[in-house]
Amino acid sequence: SLSDRLTGVFDRLRGRGALNEQDVREAMREVRIALLEADVALPVARKFIDSVTEKAVGQQVLKSVTPGQQVVKIVNDELIEMLGGDDAAPLDLDAKPPVVIMMVGLQGSGKTTSTAKLARLIREKHGKKALMASLDVNRPAAQEQLKVLGEQVDVATLPIIAGQQPVDIASRAMESAKLQSADVLLLDTAGRLHVDDALMAEMKAVHGIASPHEVLLVVDSLTGQDAVNVAQSFNEEIPLTGVILTRMDGDARGGAALSMRAVTGKPIKFAGTGEKLDAIEPFHPSRVANRILGMGDVVSLVEKAAQVVEQEEADRMAERMMKGQFDLNDLRTQLRQMQNMGGLGMLAGMLPGMKKAKAAMQQSGMDDKVLVRMDAIIGSMTQKERANPALLNAKRKRRVAAGSGTQVQDINRLLKMHQEMGKAMKQIKKMGGLKGLGALFG
Ligand code: GDP
Ligand code: MG
Repeated sequence: SLSDRLTGVFDRLRGRGALNEQDVREAMREVRIALLEADVALPVARKFIDSVTEKAVGQQVLKSVTPGQQVVKIVNDELIEMLGGDDAAPLDLDAKPPVVIMMVGLQGSGKTTSTAKLARLIREKHGKKALMASLDVNRPAAQEQLKVLGEQVDVATLPIIAGQQPVDIASRAMESAKLQSADVLLLDTAGRLHVDDALMAEMKAVHGIASPHEVLLVVDSLTGQDAVNVAQSFNEEIPLTGVILTRMDGDARGGAALSMRAVTGKPIKFAGTGEKLDAIEPFHPSRVANRILGMGDVVSLVEKAAQVVEQEEADRMAERMMKGQFDLNDLRTQLRQMQNMGGLGMLAGMLPGMKKAKAAMQQSGMDDKVLVRMDAIIGSMTQKERANPALLNAKRKRRVAAGSGTQVQDINRLLKMHQEMGKAMKQIKKMGGLKGLGALFG
């Protein structure tokens, strides 16, 4: 597996502090193979590797994991980022009804099936009224197919009129949706075996008539490398708003997802996971990243190790506070950690005794910019002042304020906060020390 290969590359590195460029490059050779095996398009894989290499070089290796494992985690995080982050991008139905959703893609990609799947979701999950219309006049049974699916998901389809052209069907569908007070109109368009000018001209004409709020490109995840060219062509011709990846239930390793994102820059909104009409799921970047790398266990191992390090640091700080040793240098370390960990929102969970301090900070209208300012204030103090804040008389405070571009009242506020933290700690000590913390702040 990739994990084994990386372990081999990195075994000799054990015990060294930071990842260097040559080591990372060696590891990336293995990652590249894993990406190509998962069907990520070659240029996309290359760009991805470059970006991860840049991020990984120089990173500290956590004590309890191997450098190889750490690289896997970095690769995994970057994959998730490139696949769209933590959350699935939702269907956007926030417009004046009827909200038009236009489905585009090659023949056989799963457009008609996905149209019916979405219609079902819109009815069941969004509680909205949908109308579907097939604009596929190329294949004899295409319109009939959508009608049958519509009956299965209990969503109306536009009555079929033989001989009508796509643009005319589209305008009739708009009229009908308005008359029926449908919230959403789904337009299932024709596909071809390959992208060609006639297909694109038709798509553009329909787009012009219907002004769709969502234009979803349906792509078969099994097509791998080819999917990139298809996505590129469509993306150049019509403004896509998202992608649906079908056949994610099959052998697809998910590489097409990364390629789609990289080529179109548009979110992947859904994954089709079967032929049945309820087989559609919001697209989850983390799951697909795991599928591409196939190393979920390594990732969670490294995540746990990182948590341990944070916990150790928090424990160390708490102990210093208990002993009355928590000085402004420690406060500064904390402030920096808060910034790294996502600002004030994370505060309460990070440090015992901080709940009260956080309340005080918020009362005085503090936001995350203040963290940066407080960092600057401490930076303008001498080491002696940081170790013994009582030294800060009015004259020194004015000097620190000038040095950090702040006001004396900002210095006072910071010192007050430091005091609050000290008081909270004394209280905890009275209540039984660190062991009592769980009950107090758990
Ligand atoms: P269209 O030509 O783009 O409209 O494609 P269709 O919707 O007619 O789908 C072509 C075939 O793919 C049908 O047999 C569908 O049942 C099947 N299909 C569509 N989506 C999925 C999916 O997510 N998983 C699987 N296994 N099959 C799918
Ligand atoms: Mg179809």
